[in-house]
Amino acid sequence: MPLSVPGPTLGVVGGGQLGRMLGEAAAPLGVELVVSDPTPDAPAAPVARDQIVGDFDDPETVRTLAERADYLTYEIELTDPDVLESVSEETGVPVHPAPETLRIIQDKLVQKERLRDAGVPVPEFRAVGSAAELRTALEELGYPAMLKAREGGYDGRGNVLVESPDEVDAAFEKIAGPAMVEEFVDFERELAVMGCIGVDGTDAFPVTETIHEEEILRTMVSPARTDDATLSAARAVADDVLSVMAGRGVFGIELFDTGDDILLNEIAPRPHNSGHWTIEGCHTSQFEQHVRAVTGRPLGSTERRGPTATANLLGDVSERQPATLRGEEAVFGTDRAHLHWYGKSEVYRLRKMGHVTVSGDGGTGPDDVLRTARDLRDGCTFHPEEDP
Ligand code: ADP
Repeated sequence: MPLSVPGPTLGVVGGGQLGRMLGEAAAPLGVELVVSDPTPDAPAAPVARDQIVGDFDDPETVRTLAERADYLTYEIELTDPDVLESVSEETGVPVHPAPETLRIIQDKLVQKERLRDAGVPVPEFRAVGSAAELRTALEELGYPAMLKAREGGYDGRGNVLVESPDEVDAAFEKIAGPAMVEEFVDFERELAVMGCIGVDGTDAFPVTETIHEEEILRTMVSPARTDDATLSAARAVADDVLSVMAGRGVFGIELFDTGDDILLNEIAPRPHNSGHWTIEGCHTSQFEQHVRAVTGRPLGSTERRGPTATANLLGDVSERQPATLRGEEAVFGTDRAHLHWYGKSEVYRLRKMGHVTVSGDGGTGPDDVLRTARDLRDGCTFHPEEDP
């Protein structure tokens, strides 16, 4: 693939932090980005040649994006697979991962059914369309259980924990739409694997341990602090998941480690928060890997450079307000620590605003890098008046 200027253009539906980090990774490869996002000046806009302002699922917006691009991809599941498919057919611009993959993943029930049918271990689940169906399902699955909206949930929004029969009606009312209910998995830890499908085969990044609070990813570390048999089992489940996915790209595969089994939680057909550590932690980042995969270049090495941890910088304010981060000097003042700022002008509670990654050397282990990443995160705040 000879390179010239302007280089090949990747059209990305979605211009959030994932689009921004895709742009940062694409530039050294000579690949330019055009993104589409409904919010003007989206986080990816400064690193993209252009932003088209329009909804993720708007056919005109996706067509305009395709007309400006040589390849199409998406960094958000809220786009419409039918639109992607028809625009790709009309314009001849290839889209990856395949719209069929997005169709499966968008609906948590369909996703779980397809994976279970392919032999991937998943928690027990039932489809539920009413409070009465939920009650019946829970007679079999037992309490507590996790009720999940089939579509549109993210960062735990769209999930309701149901702890007793008294909570059934209120829980279903919160979802108020097609749902699925899943046994509550009493996991020892959560793991994630970034799987990759390229022109030259499949691969995966080393297993990541992910730590959630209030169902939102807070910190992650690789290597995961577990035994080799568990790491191999996680990788084997990820390989099985990849065999169900169509089209190229990276896939965030979230897993539960129960101590006895690895169960699949869910898949994202795109770079994922649990893979942010790969920017400094691996020879190829998940973002470079996605650009390579969707533009038809061979995959890069997924080898880990050393133990690496990432802590998310989440909004720590109660009211929506202009965002000013304080306390970040300590990140710049720490060896092997790196700040990633997503460029969002406003902060609200738990909004993902950036992250801090800390890499170790031969003498440091996962506990050390995780502790440093957490300390640096704890030293940062969006509170206007507070000394961090
Ligand atoms: P989202 O799609 O909003 O990210 P997930 O379905 O991945 O939501 O759930 C977010 C988090 O909630 C998980 O990472 C896990 O911590 C918890 N969770 C989800 N499903 C279950 C379950 N069946 N049992 C126990 N915890 C769960």
